[in-house]
Amino acid sequence: RNFQRLEGANRHAEGHNPLCGDQITVYLHMDGEVIREISFQGAGCAISQSAASLMTTALKGKTKAEAQELFAKFHDMVTGEGNGADPMELGKLAVFAGVREFPVRVKCASLPWHTMRAALDGKDEAVSTE
Ligand code: ZN
Repeated sequence: RNFQRLEGANRHAEGHNPLCGDQITVYLHMDGEVIREISFQGAGCAISQSAASLMTTALKGKTKAEAQELFAKFHDMVTGEGNGADPMELGKLAVFAGVREFPVRVKCASLPWHTMRAALDGKDEAVSTE
């Protein structure tokens, strides 16, 4: 879902996961603090692509603060850090809880999120999981 270059995007960032070869570009159309539209393009494994797809559906219409909060919960879930997010709060994103058992795959699942956050912050440099 939302696999396209976003016309009218006013933020974007690129991310790479050298360990797996995943590459992603995340596009945002911010309207003030709100994510009006979000899309991505890239190539990589099924985990990174599906994580990006679900991320875009989860974040559309969210505020910057809500997106950062969801990033933190998702990150805690896939890394097993923090207090462990409540799967109910993560909705469909909870399907990625299983990658916690596979450290290499954690980077695949979190790459789209790190890239999205860089785009939110308006950073120009590319994100790397290394
Ligand atoms: Zn991957």
